[in-house]
Amino acid sequence: MSRYETELEVALDAVRAAAHVCRSVQARLVTAETLEKKDKSPVTVADFASQAIVCQRLAERLPDDAVVGEEDSAELRADDQAALRAAVAREVGDQAPGPVDEDTVLGWIDRGGAAADGDRYWTVDPIDGTKGFLRGEQYAVALGLIENGRVVLGVLGCPNLEGGLLVSAVRGEGAQEHDLEGGGAARALRVASVATTAEARFCESVESAHSDQSESAQIAQRLGITQEPFRIDSQCKYAAVGRGDASIYLRMPTRKDYREKIWDHAAGMIVVEEAGGRVTDVFGRDLDFSRGRTLDENRGIVATSGAIHDEVVAAVRAVRGE
Ligand code: AMP
Ligand code: MG
Repeated sequence: MSRYETELEVALDAVRAAAHVCRSVQARLVTAETLEKKDKSPVTVADFASQAIVCQRLAERLPDDAVVGEEDSAELRADDQAALRAAVAREVGDQAPGPVDEDTVLGWIDRGGAAADGDRYWTVDPIDGTKGFLRGEQYAVALGLIENGRVVLGVLGCPNLEGGLLVSAVRGEGAQEHDLEGGGAARALRVASVATTAEARFCESVESAHSDQSESAQIAQRLGITQEPFRIDSQCKYAAVGRGDASIYLRMPTRKDYREKIWDHAAGMIVVEEAGGRVTDVFGRDLDFSRGRTLDENRGIVATSGAIHDEVVAAVRAVRGE
């Protein structure tokens, strides 16, 4: 039995429900027209609805737990956002036993406004990879539990990965993959064991603003990797490493002042670690989740299937001139 049986059950249920909302919004609202106009409104609706649903599920089952969410309701409360509020309430209502009013939904979203400073809190990215969502491609719903500055549990919903799946992990208890719909048995998740880095497939952001792709190309070359990078948005990259679809995830800083956000990495990191891999920053340092909303003491990310980690970090450092 898991030490976090209730937490895992609640987190899986919350991410499943949020993923359904995201999926339904992406299917209905991301159209050729919104793509063409670079209209961000579909992701805005899904983002708020997803955070509301995750916070509602946590509030119902674990009412004393704090939640650090990426979103707050300020934009949604503005006088000129009545249509957006109504749209979000409608989407949330579709996942609830009955209709819900706008104030209730705003209240749920605001439950995600806790400070990242207690002994125990959840962190949620209601839609990680918003650019991927808007392109009709990959995105994730990410939920992690942090206790005393350490990630102890994580669930990632990946609605477009391999037809839709969830991955989860509990510290010390391994990682698992689940059907998005539920029902089927969970499957143990293991990284792929590559003997040499040359065999490794690496993944990185689609968005070159989020990760320096010319640097990663130099690192790949140094490691003898000839395969093209696997570019996907969101923490689906961590899921790809955890499942063995890739063996390396590189996130190379593009700006000196950027600090990675805890909700962009908590769930993904623990999934890779519990699947047998390793996760550090570009200096090879452990990720420090005790610093509040950002990974203040870290820069970039290197995640691997494990055995090759030191070699990959050495290549990263050499290319960065350290
Ligand atoms: P990805 O889908 O992996 O490209 O990452 C999406 C995440 O990148 C978003 O959730 C943002 O929080 C984050 N992000 C935004 N700007 C930057 C940046 N300059 N460097 C790294 N990550 C960023
Ligand atoms: Mg994100």
